[in-house]
Amino acid sequence: MKITEHIKNANGKTLFSLEVIPPQKGVGIEDLYKNIDPLMEFKPPFIDVTTSREEYVYIEKGNGLMERKITRMRPGTLGICASIQHKYNVDTVPHVLCGGFTKEETEYLLVDCLYLGIDNVMALRGDAMKGQNQFVPTEGGHRYAIDLVEHINDIGHGKYLTDEDRCDENNKFCIGVAGYPEKHIEAPSMKYDLERLKQKVEAGADYVVTQMFFDNKKYFDFVKEARAMGIDVPIIPGIKPIATKGHLSMLPKTFKIDLPEDLISEITKAKDNTAVKQIGVEWAISQCRELLDFGVPVLHFYSMGKSNNIKKVAQELF
Ligand code: FAD
Repeated sequence: MKITEHIKNANGKTLFSLEVIPPQKGVGIEDLYKNIDPLMEFKPPFIDVTTSREEYVYIEKGNGLMERKITRMRPGTLGICASIQHKYNVDTVPHVLCGGFTKEETEYLLVDCLYLGIDNVMALRGDAMKGQNQFVPTEGGHRYAIDLVEHINDIGHGKYLTDEDRCDENNKFCIGVAGYPEKHIEAPSMKYDLERLKQKVEAGADYVVTQMFFDNKKYFDFVKEARAMGIDVPIIPGIKPIATKGHLSMLPKTFKIDLPEDLISEITKAKDNTAVKQIGVEWAISQCRELLDFGVPVLHFYSMGKSNNIKKVAQELF
């Protein structure tokens, strides 16, 4: 079922959902299931599965020589979506990237989604590859997420690779796109970034999922500005309970977000990671309570391979 239908059917009740990351290449899927299992009691109607960018790895060639190779360390997004759907009977949302895929590969991926009964996809540009300082479009691939939205919307309509005569109106995906309550790092201003977001919605995006944020005011302002600009699709907040002291530097660096001073100071003072987890859970609970009062359609949790803390948060709310 489409995410927008899940939201409509919930009749104003806030839904619980989560995002998972494929395991490292060579690692089985069981650990991923162990992370999802404890969260199924909160009845997520959908689970997102990320797609990783490729990265440079160095492999030994013998004679002390190293060879640089480009590889994807966490492949298998679509296979994982299919497994999760089969095991838990929930909808899955594969993340589809511009970076690392040609238009033709994207087309085949979308065709596979249709065969698997996947109704929703998240359309994203992807970040620069590790070792590159800016995003470089893949040869034969899309440059911006909006190009991907147009492609996904046109599947079966002949604009890309499929035959126009075989157009099937049922082949319509529900499309999610990313939004940034703290602005995307490359955008010169929030207004500019919101205009780009509006264009993605006008091109056919059905809902927005936000980057994680730790200060609700940023989300509330973002929604207000988006609505004022005429962006009227659901804007789903992304939540991440902080779990380690290392997150204090890793999350801002990786996701280009700010952490509130109060949160930084509480975590810095914590005596160990058990105490940090407790602070992270309490912070997320209070964030979520306010978001529930605001009437958000879904609370979407970034699991990043861990579910215990999300369970503690969800137990207080759902
Ligand atoms: P875009 O919407 O294309 O925007 C990128 C930048 O270009 C922005 O600064 C925007 O303002 C600007 N821009 C957009 N359109 C235009 C235009 N037409 N002309 C000029 N400028 C333009 N990354 C992964 O690798 N895998 C994932 O699975 C993944 N999942 C994510 C899930 C969520 C909910 C979020 C919020 C992010 C996720 N990301 C993921 C990260 C995402 O790929 C990066 O944030 C990336 O840098 C931007 O992606 P985007 O889709 O927002 O890009």
